[in-house]
Formats: sequence, structure tokens, C-alpha cells
Amino acid sequence: MNIAIDIDDTITNTYETMVPMIALFYNKDLNKLLHNKPSYKELYSLPNFSHFAKTHYEIVASIAPLKNGVIDILSTLKKEGHKIIIITARNNEEFHNPYQVSYNYLIKNNIPFDKLIVNASNKAEVCLKEHIDLFIDDSTKNCHAVAKKGIPTIQFNSVFDTNSKLNKVTSWEEVYYKIQNMYL
Ligand SMILES: [Mg+2]
Repeated sequence: MNIAIDIDDTITNTYETMVPMIALFYNKDLNKLLHNKPSYKELYSLPNFSHFAKTHYEIVASIAPLKNGVIDILSTLKKEGHKIIIITARNNEEFHNPYQVSYNYLIKNNIPFDKLIVNASNKAEVCLKEHIDLFIDDSTKNCHAVAKKGIPTIQFNSVFDTNSKLNKVTSWEEVYYKIQNMYL
């Protein structure tokens, strides 16, 4: 299978890395922020957020820790013959070089992949173009859009987006289990 995988909040714990930086930048109470779990949409509406993004996103993208088990599961999937296509919406407006920062991170952290696509503002279209058989992402919007094209999706659960009724997981072990069951 060609498996499409998102980076932020799917391979990495990006949100948890970004929130403390937002607290520092905006002089906000970190405990309150962690408690309120603002969505990305709410964070984007903070004043001058584009300045925060431009000055902090590359740092966040470089230091966000991996989710547990992701290297083992992706290595196993690759050994089983699957292709791993990393598809991220990281873009040139918010990053100086979205491809380079993502590529360097994936290599440095031993994430196996066959292809990296950045600037993917319309992931459903990219999935069709890349002949994707399975899409893994934390975004409800992306999963819905891709599912509409008839491509199976697995949604990574995130602390700030808990309402969707999509095919959800909370760990990479669960992703692997679901993929095994797709063959039955
Ligand atoms: Mg994401």
C-alpha cells in the first residue's frame, strides 16, 4: 500500500511543544493554556500570529518529540513492503524552508520514508495524485476530505480535537493493528 502520513501531531507531538512557546511569546499563563486546550484555529487567531509562526515554527519543527512507537511501526510497515509518503501542510508562508526542516528532522530521527511532500494545502488532491491507499492524519478536516475521495483514513487523536466520529487511534500500535485488520 501507499500510506500517506502527516507529520505534526501524527508523527510528532507538535502541539505540546508549541503551547509553552506560545505562553512565553504572548506572556500567557501556561497552566491555563494547557487546561483550556485551545485548537489550532484559536491559536491562529492570536494577534500577530503570523509573526510567531515565522519566528518559532522552524524551532518547533526541529525539536518536537516523536510519538511513542512511531519509528518501530513505520520501520515494520516499510519492511512489509508498504511505501511511506509523508504529506505535510507546512508551507513557505510560515517556514523559511518547509522541505529542508522536515527532511532534516525525519532523517535525524530515523523515520523511514519514501517521499516527502510539503505545501500540501489540499491533502485530498495530493492523495489522489500519489495513488494513496491509506491516509493517516490528526486533522478532522483532512480526514473527512480524503475519506470523501474514497480513501480509507485513520485519525490520530489530539488533545484539542476530540469530537470527530472518524476511524480514530491514540497510538502507533493501534495504527498497526488497524492496518493488519485491513487485510482480513
Ligand atoms: Mg497534523
